[in-house]
Amino acid sequence: MEFDLVDLIRRHTAQQRDDVLLGIGDDAAVLSVPAGQALVMAVDTLVEGVHFPAGTAAADIGWKALAVNLSDLAAMGASPAWALLTLTLPDADPGFVAGFADGFAALARLYRLALVGGDTTRGPLCISVAVHGFVPPGQALVRAGGLAGDVLLVTGTPGDAAAGLHALQNPARDADPQHRRWHEWVIGRLHRPTPRLAAGIALRGVASACIDISDGLLADLGHICRASGVGAEIEAMRLPRSSALRGLHDDATALRFALGGGDDYELCFSVPPSRLAEVQAALAQIGCSATCIGRLVEGSEVRVRGEDGASLTIDHHGWEHFA
Ligand code: ADP
Ligand code: MG
Repeated sequence: MEFDLVDLIRRHTAQQRDDVLLGIGDDAAVLSVPAGQALVMAVDTLVEGVHFPAGTAAADIGWKALAVNLSDLAAMGASPAWALLTLTLPDADPGFVAGFADGFAALARLYRLALVGGDTTRGPLCISVAVHGFVPPGQALVRAGGLAGDVLLVTGTPGDAAAGLHALQNPARDADPQHRRWHEWVIGRLHRPTPRLAAGIALRGVASACIDISDGLLADLGHICRASGVGAEIEAMRLPRSSALRGLHDDATALRFALGGGDDYELCFSVPPSRLAEVQAALAQIGCSATCIGRLVEGSEVRVRGEDGASLTIDHHGWEHFA
């Protein structure tokens, strides 16, 4: 069974690269790291029922399993090259594997990423992808370089993936076509996130700190703050919200999704004010929207300020003023 499935994966994901000296089929892959580049590696696992709902389309799972990993490379400013794939499957279902491989390959092709090996075992559905990329030595984007006074930006429109999950869990009862389109769009943002690879590369040597948003903007910004030894202030009114998010949810819910929702895979990063214009021009050139949402400050707290300047705090029921 295993050989047939591996052959199926190989055929569905074929991608030529000169630096793959030996790909799928031997005991291990043999790869040529370009001279003068640092190798960047990351691995992430998706478990059915934990990282995606049971019943998610195979092609969406394949896309997302790669996307979450490419997002980690994006957050480092790396350009992707190779991947390894460990598939744990409840049964040898060629239909599922072909669909999965097609979704994986659709994203891999965009970046000329080659799948060079992996492992296939039987068990509860679980997918682990390891990715490898390159960055010029010394130019990787890290979490630890942020300074008080740096401007804080975010790509895209965070909160959409949380709205997508909400839409899946609360299927639309009305037949309003606009609502249906918004629902489909936010569900697409959940299942097929766009890793911000071009943005990460454009930020090399300019961003003082960078992270990708997998657990929610506040949680991930907290990682930058801890690593950099700074606090942060976000102005709630500046948070970019998609028209779908605004159309489907009231302000408080949209804000809760944008700040607390996971799975967006946008980049959150800081830049010195003196380089803001340069960064915005570089991102505009690659067609990536990026919005200033606040700044890094002295201290260690992450604060969100509302329209009236007062701090907001999150609880499980929504947002409340406390001061
Ligand atoms: P071994 O017993 O040597 O680990 P495997 O049967 O696990 O051999 O793998 C055979 C070949 O198929 C290897 O080159 C391996 O990298 C590749 N392979 C196995 N599973 C996958 C997978 N899910 N995706 C890509 N390549 C795979
Ligand atoms: Mg093996």
